[in-house]
Amino acid sequence: MATSSSAVMWFRRDLRVRDNPALLAALADGSVTALFVVDPAVWSGAGPARRAWLAANVLALAERIPLTVHHGDPADVVPRVAHGRRVHVSAETTPYGRRRDEAVGAQVELVATGSPYAVGPGVVRNGSGDPYQVFTAFARAWRDRGWSEPAPTPRSPDLEAPEPDGRALALLEEAIADAPVALPAAGEDAAWRRWHDFRRDGLDSYATERDRPDHDGTSRLSPYLHLGVLHPRSLLADIDPASTYATELCWRDFYADVLWHHPASAWADLRPALKGMRYDDPEDAVEAWRTGTTGYPIVDAGMRQLLDTGWMHNRVRMITASFLTKDLHVWWPVGARHFLDLLIDGDVASNNHGWQWVAGTGTDASPYFRVFNPVSQGKRFDPQGDYVRRWVPELDHLPGATVHEPWTSHLGYERDYPLRIVDHGDERREALERYRAARTVH
Ligand code: FAD
Repeated sequence: MATSSSAVMWFRRDLRVRDNPALLAALADGSVTALFVVDPAVWSGAGPARRAWLAANVLALAERIPLTVHHGDPADVVPRVAHGRRVHVSAETTPYGRRRDEAVGAQVELVATGSPYAVGPGVVRNGSGDPYQVFTAFARAWRDRGWSEPAPTPRSPDLEAPEPDGRALALLEEAIADAPVALPAAGEDAAWRRWHDFRRDGLDSYATERDRPDHDGTSRLSPYLHLGVLHPRSLLADIDPASTYATELCWRDFYADVLWHHPASAWADLRPALKGMRYDDPEDAVEAWRTGTTGYPIVDAGMRQLLDTGWMHNRVRMITASFLTKDLHVWWPVGARHFLDLLIDGDVASNNHGWQWVAGTGTDASPYFRVFNPVSQGKRFDPQGDYVRRWVPELDHLPGATVHEPWTSHLGYERDYPLRIVDHGDERREALERYRAARTVH
């Protein structure tokens, strides 16, 4: 490949120019070829919404800097493009990313600077040098350690893009054309705009509003953070490190840390205590959960928000995850897979450990016996029922909180809203019984 540049910057989950230490490290080597590889393993593992979101952000980056996009196994593509030059990256810490980088690093000099996290996985440890198992202790040490200042933005970066791979660009464009949901605006400028808007309008009330799916009181930055369109360090530089918002960013670092130390926890129970647990495989009920037709309004609203937008409010992620694991007695990876297929912020560390937290098999075990009651959760966090009415049109004629209990209204089923597929009280008792049995076996 004809090029005169001195180094390669291989972009992955760091699709930005601002606050990008790996890009600065590459530019310190001289002129740089900026590369993105459409990796078939990542591409085929993501659902169409997440593919479209990735594609939109790669193309947004390509509008900002000369970026050469290729398609193929990075272990083949990167050495070919590098042609003996150093390759700069920001460290990837997921099990797949680590394997991939080992394969590439065996063939080229791979220089990792920074990571997608404020504090990289493996860094925060207790006095004995061991990883933390519990969030609150991790968060304390995370804050004490702190993070570096944002990196400066390169002024006129010396970047070049050799001839593009037409197939790779076509794949990206097709993915965007096939997007099953309306994507948020892609790219760094859009991410910063959202952050500035949220800082101005939402940050002060975040601690109280973040649990209200009807109010949209959260930043909606997860899709950008997932792809590194914006770095958490940039956000932390703008806020009080003791704030609730910083704590939420810490959860993201924590789960990445857990995954780093326990790569198998991506798809297996982190804590073995519940390994004797009995699970069901109720196909029809799981399908009702997926399609938002369980007959429990807040569960259905959340699952339809996910289908329609590729995003779901955090409180409702917990409620819907609890419903699948505790009311339908389904092992959490089934739900985690479905979420990863549909979420545009789908992230193996946050998603799969979020699921394990709800299922009781993960860190900080939200104790297994904590079973979310979909009706009382709905009434508490969507008190006027606005969230449910927004996503479940069959119920939008019901006033106020009645919408959470259509069975109490003589009009509740007049628009063909489905009947409840299970009785929550019965299934709660069943879940607790199974839990007791599993603990006894252990
Ligand atoms: P905000 O409330 O504005 O929070 C700011 C940022 O903090 C988020 O963007 C996110 O990066 C981080 N954050 C907030 N809460 C959490 C948390 N509990 N765990 C980890 N990071 C957090 N988050 C993902 O980014 N990807 C996922 O695939 C994902 N799957 C989840 C699955 C389940 C079952 C649960 C319970 C949670 C999951 N989360 C996931 C965490 C959380 O729901 C989302 O990060 C949040 O809803 C994103 O919306 P936001 O950007 O408006 O969040």
